[in-house]
Amino acid sequence: MTPRGEQVCYADAYARSIQARVVEVVQGESTLVILDRTTFYPGGGGQPSDQGLLLRATDGRTWTVRGARKLDGEIAHELEPSPDGPPDVADVLQVDLEWARRLALMRTHTALHALCGVVWRDYGALVTGGNMEPGSGRMDFEFERMSGDLVDTIEASVNVELAAQRDVRVAVLPRDEAFAIPDLIRTKVNLLPEGIEEIRTIEIVGLDLQADGGTHVANTREVGRIKVTGYESKGRINKRIRIRLEDPD
Ligand SMILES: [Zn+2]
Repeated sequence: MTPRGEQVCYADAYARSIQARVVEVVQGESTLVILDRTTFYPGGGGQPSDQGLLLRATDGRTWTVRGARKLDGEIAHELEPSPDGPPDVADVLQVDLEWARRLALMRTHTALHALCGVVWRDYGALVTGGNMEPGSGRMDFEFERMSGDLVDTIEASVNVELAAQRDVRVAVLPRDEAFAIPDLIRTKVNLLPEGIEEIRTIEIVGLDLQADGGTHVANTREVGRIKVTGYESKGRINKRIRIRLEDPD
C-alpha cells in the first residue's frame, strides 16, 4: 500500500523544512499527526526518530513534535500535549526538523557505517546490532579476536577512511538485484521483511555497502573524526565497540 504521505527523508536527508497538509489526527494516549509530506525520520535501524516543530502560519500556533514513528506505513508525528488541542485535518503547516540533532545523527550514522566497513574489510567480522544517539553510538560484532590494540588500529583506520572524503550514495534497487550483491546484507540476522520489493542501499563509495533505511551525510568529510570510547565482550564471540564524534577544532 502506498502511504498517503510523501516520505522525503529517504530521498533527501538534507531536507529539513517543508510545507505540508494534515491528513489525519489520531487521538489516543498521545496525539499523532499524519501529513501529506514530511521531512521527519520515523526511527529505525538504530537511529532514533527526529524531533522538531509544526507551525501554523494562519494563527502562529506551534506544536512540539517529540518523536515520530511508523503507523500502518505512514510516518506519524507524536505531539507534546497542548492545552488548545491538536491541529485540524486540512490545516497547512510548516514542518521543521530540529536540525542540529538530525545532522548529528546523520554524521554518527555515517561514522558507524565506516566502522562497519573497516571491521568487515580488515577482519571479516559481521555486525550483529547497533544503536546511536546524536554524537555517539555502538556496534556489536561477531569478532572473537578483538582486543584493545586492535581497537586502536580500527579507530585509526576509520579516521583515515573518513578523511578520504568518500561520497555516500543512496540507491533503491529491486529485491533480486539487491540480493545478488555479495555481502550486501551484512547483518547476521537478515531483518528485511518477506515480500519487500525494493531494497534501499547506502554506499560509502570504496568502503561499505549496506541495505539500510536511515539518514546519512553525503560525504565522509562531514563526519569529521571519531574516537573509540570503549569496547566490551558480550560473550566469547560477540564484542561491542563504542564511538563518539570528535568535536571539530
Ligand atoms: Zn545507515
